[in-house]
Amino acid sequence: MTSKRTVVVVGGGTAGCTVAGLLATDKRLSVILLEAGAIIGDSDERDFFRVLKNQDESVSHFGASLTKTTSTANYLQAHGLGGGGAINAMVSLPGHADDYDNWAQGLGCAEWAWSDVAQVFDALPLTLHQPNNNELGVMGEALLEGMPQAQRSTLAWDDGRQSAMEFLNQELRPSSLNVRIKSAVSRVVIEDTNAIGVELSDGEVIRADLVVLCSGALATPQILWASGCENPAIGRGLQDHPAVMFSTVLDAPATDGFVVTAHGFIEIDGVADAGQITAYNHLGDDARTIGGLGVALTHVWSRGDVSADGPDVKVEFKMLSDSRDRQAMRALVRMAATLVTTGALNNIGVGWICDDQATPCAVLLDMSDDQLDSWLMSHLGHQSHAVGTCRMGDFKDSQTVVSPHGQVHGVSSLWVADASVFPKIPRANTNLPVTMVATRIAGFVLDFCRSGFFGG
Ligand SMILES: Cc1cc2nc3c(=O)[nH]c(=O)nc-3n(C[C@H](O)[C@H](O)[C@H](O)COP(=O)(O)OP(=O)(O)OC[C@H]3O[C@@H](n4cnc5c(N)ncnc54)[C@H](O)[C@@H]3O)c2cc1C
Repeated sequence: MTSKRTVVVVGGGTAGCTVAGLLATDKRLSVILLEAGAIIGDSDERDFFRVLKNQDESVSHFGASLTKTTSTANYLQAHGLGGGGAINAMVSLPGHADDYDNWAQGLGCAEWAWSDVAQVFDALPLTLHQPNNNELGVMGEALLEGMPQAQRSTLAWDDGRQSAMEFLNQELRPSSLNVRIKSAVSRVVIEDTNAIGVELSDGEVIRADLVVLCSGALATPQILWASGCENPAIGRGLQDHPAVMFSTVLDAPATDGFVVTAHGFIEIDGVADAGQITAYNHLGDDARTIGGLGVALTHVWSRGDVSADGPDVKVEFKMLSDSRDRQAMRALVRMAATLVTTGALNNIGVGWICDDQATPCAVLLDMSDDQLDSWLMSHLGHQSHAVGTCRMGDFKDSQTVVSPHGQVHGVSSLWVADASVFPKIPRANTNLPVTMVATRIAGFVLDFCRSGFFGG
């Protein structure tokens, strides 16, 4: 009988839970999932601000600059078993079909066209929920009334959050799966050009036949560097959706419930769904009377970096560094400012402001392009949708780090399956796309194990 093979999965977030759970379905594999934080788990709480507030130790703050004029500030990422999927706003969208066709045709990832991935999205074992009339909240209702393109958001919810933890919970799996929390990995142990295990921050070494990195787009490049990987493409290609938040004081505090219940996509300069406007029923536990409108660019060209800065790590998103993004963001912000100064959204609250100086949104409509660019450069926010720092693609393409199956170029038995591998950020919130990507890469890893270790 063939002996069991050991696979170590590093990082128990959205991708890591997905990959570990799926690999453990093969009883010939012994799967060890190593997560740096504690258990976040699946919460019954619908309000993601409250989840974040009560989970202080389940988030990590990376120092990051968003634009060339903003100084380094906290960029929030998940830190614990369940990852981003356990603390996020649960908005679950696949992205535009063209996003994946572009991965396949323009970015060297042939097996990732919409026709390849659509059925994977459909088969994900997550229960999705659309808010009913009682769950919409004041802001959700106003957006649906005031914006023709608005729709109810699809949320990963089934009487509780539906995160990738589902992949760990299914019967059959525990006997092959060993989940270890508070186990931060410092490096992959590579001998010659073969990964043979991982070293934890306390010095413990765990040997493995195969290692899959799922530590998220900001941490995975750092683990690769610490392991001696020198591909200059590692850390390049960082992306997120640039965003600004408009806010208003509501007549009454928001009731308990989902924070995000409705959003609408906008076409900009002929690009479908290039902007997303999201209604926030409130902006936090201490701000339940503040309604918000998230205004995010979903189709982006600008690229940033995660880079080593001596012993430290520098995270620079370089948002709006590409003039196409500046043009599209200006158009989007003007559309959003028009939306809140006319119609249903104008009728709620006491008027809309666009920054902490209480500047009325209408002021944005009077700004020249240069003035608006400079306002954006200093007021821009993000959506915690970091992707793209270990891009997949052909090994001959010097901007890629892993193959279209997730195998690290030049190192055998080492794979990446998290948000890092996205060649371009999709026009959607990223959690569902990460789950899809991790599911497919888990399938490629299983194929590799079956043919390589077990002879088919
Ligand atoms: C506040 C917030 C709100 C969001 N809202 C939405 C939303 O509404 N909809 C949506 O689609 N997306 C949303 N997202 C984005 C989405 O959750 C992420 O894109 C997704 O979780 C990324 O998955 P990942 O597996 O790549 O990384 P993560 O889920 O972040 O997982 C990475 C894991 O690796 C662990 N780790 C890191 N370093 C190490 C190490 N050295 N050793 C061991 N473990 C390590 C981390 O602790 C973490 O648990 C949100 C994200 C945040 C943070």
